Amino acid sequence: MMVAWVKERRRDKVIPRKSEMGDEKVKAEALELLGMFQVLPRLVVFDLDYTLWPFYCECRSKRDMPSLYHDGRGILYALKEKGIDLAIASRSPTADIAETFLDKLSIKSMFVAKEIFSSWTHKTDHFRKIQSRTGVPFNSMLFFDDENRNIQAVSKMGVTSILVNEGVHIGALRQGLTKYSENVNISEKNKQKWRTKFSQNSNSSKKNESEDK
Ligand SMILES: [Mg+2]
Repeated sequence: MMVAWVKERRRDKVIPRKSEMGDEKVKAEALELLGMFQVLPRLVVFDLDYTLWPFYCECRSKRDMPSLYHDGRGILYALKEKGIDLAIASRSPTADIAETFLDKLSIKSMFVAKEIFSSWTHKTDHFRKIQSRTGVPFNSMLFFDDENRNIQAVSKMGVTSILVNEGVHIGALRQGLTKYSENVNISEKNKQKWRTKFSQNSNSSKKNESEDK
């Protein structure tokens, strides 16, 4: 019995050290990934339940000690270090528990906006609030969520939105940054097309004007 108890104690001590090492490794990987992209989002928005942490916080007690998905903390730290703002969009009905957990995880102050409220809309209200609070346009945002209906609704607003299956991880970040770059390129090309079309139109109308004279 004594041996088992000692083992348990040792295991308790080892786990946090291992996860801290994991956080640093993930942060380094995420920073390397961020360095590979020429355009980066100005704001990254995260859902909470089953995106940043593996549970519904409404089913937990404030007294519990929460934990994030394995890559969560490293990704948050890397984004912050790159000067990218962070925000939360959660439809959790228990904002008080969510806030307590963010505090216990020592990540509460990392977010420039925290919109946590239940809503019939699929987070479009959350994003309007985040937009007015931060001034960041929707097309400069990247969003991670585990529910497809939220992804569908928010991407229609112009936000690059990524569906995650088992929480946010390095692969999802890579996918998000790639899709964000593609979306920026598409809108740049469209702007370019519009400019060309506009200048052609104005040239031809000038030509017509001079022909009329
Ligand atoms: Mg969720």
